[in-house]
Amino acid sequence: MTFTTRFAPSPTGPLHLGHAYSALIAHDMARAAGGRFLLRFEDTDLERCRPEYVAQTMDDLAWLGITWDAPPLMQSEHLARYNDAVDRLGEMGLTYPCGCSRKDIAAALAAPQEGVTQNVYPQTCKHRGITDRNPTDAVRLHMNRACAAIGGSGLIFSEIGDIKNGTHHIDNEYLIRDVGDIVISRKDIQTAAYFLASALDDIHEGITHVVRGVDLFDFTQVQVLLLNLLGQKAPLYHHHKLIRDEDGKRLAKRDDARAISLYRSEGLSPQDISSMVGF
Ligand SMILES: [Zn+2]
Repeated sequence: MTFTTRFAPSPTGPLHLGHAYSALIAHDMARAAGGRFLLRFEDTDLERCRPEYVAQTMDDLAWLGITWDAPPLMQSEHLARYNDAVDRLGEMGLTYPCGCSRKDIAAALAAPQEGVTQNVYPQTCKHRGITDRNPTDAVRLHMNRACAAIGGSGLIFSEIGDIKNGTHHIDNEYLIRDVGDIVISRKDIQTAAYFLASALDDIHEGITHVVRGVDLFDFTQVQVLLLNLLGQKAPLYHHHKLIRDEDGKRLAKRDDARAISLYRSEGLSPQDISSMVGF
């Protein structure tokens, strides 16, 4: 299989140094392997995403010397495919609808309950069948059943790169206790949550190596679980370090002061940006 990787920003703000670092790593790996580098925009949240950020991101990437080997995939054009996957998980009996508001969940968590970890959904709607789903409901994964469906432990995924290098096991106990019945289809955007859409696209695009920041490492177990439930083999993962500012603070997406476009307007070169992020 041809080495294929991707850079998948969400167009909710300008490209910053952290993005540039991630894109450069993925792009350089693809080029060194004689493989493919793809661009994907995670733009399913129409309220927060802006077309001007898509255009600016492509312009900034091109300026950095990054080329992509196919037209960018726009997730907003693939909602039916994500919804099909959510439906399939439902047909397998692994999901249930949830109409809880944040307030409902907070109230349920405030009531003393044995065995419920803070911030994990208290399973208020667990008794509901997925066929009773209202248009305004979210869809949650029944984590106990999902873990049982793959026959307990035994699922693994492989990581290259220096931070998490090696083989990682899926930990059912962690998924049930600390992740819980997560939302796999959001009611506000009426389609799959970020981590599911992203994993589905990795399969759809034939991604062999997922290159991304280590802040997304914790999603990997859930993604590998979901892919296996859907009969798909997970790609290899490479989680890289995050770029931090002088105070050690992670560069947030909305930190406009660090936008690549700002550095460009100040006359910095692509080489300056590369060396700022340690290339
Ligand atoms: Zn609920």
